[in-house]
Amino acid sequence: MIRDEVLGLCELTNDLLYHKIPKDKVSLYIEESLEIGKSAAQAYKGMDIIEVCKESGVEIQFLKESKKTYGVSFRAHVEMSQKQTKIWIYEGSLDDLAKNSKFAGRKSISYQDALRIHLSHEFFHYLEFKQDRFVSAILPKIVPFQVFGLKIERSINRCSEIAAHGFAKELLQLEELPNIYDYIYLINSGQMKQEHFFDMIRSYEKILEKSVT
Ligand SMILES: [Zn+2]
Repeated sequence: MIRDEVLGLCELTNDLLYHKIPKDKVSLYIEESLEIGKSAAQAYKGMDIIEVCKESGVEIQFLKESKKTYGVSFRAHVEMSQKQTKIWIYEGSLDDLAKNSKFAGRKSISYQDALRIHLSHEFFHYLEFKQDRFVSAILPKIVPFQVFGLKIERSINRCSEIAAHGFAKELLQLEELPNIYDYIYLINSGQMKQEHFFDMIRSYEKILEKSVT
């Protein structure tokens, strides 16, 4: 099993400003984000996310195709406005993810599991929107650069993603943060070498050891 903090770092490194985060603050951004996501899930524990969406007036739309842009599969996205929130699910992509989810002693997940993971993730973004409380805006901003001595502040957008993974993990009682399946998919579909993945995990463990909060 891979620790949540390490999978959180996998997500954080996708942030454009990742390298601007002070090294000793990396853990803080991950842990705080996970905590916000997991505690938001407490209110929905034991409930089915499909019902939760219905009761909250969040519409679920299924699209048959799998959407690919520049080789990256899109599996779900959420469209939010004050009037109506819709979660779009790309069935083909989710099916593909489920079919390529077996890895290193782990059980594979079903299409229904993949669906609930993605609904939970997008539902968390809906909660951020509804409460006007975006995780990336709650966490401390960083100052990636200065212009004429003026400090320009920026938030770390990927913190919302880490929190959404934490929300899904807690709500669905998963063993690992669900972004593990993105990597398993890449490995099983031949887009990432298994050794590369494990090297990355080891190097992230080291980064976290050094970044004590
Ligand atoms: Zn997201």
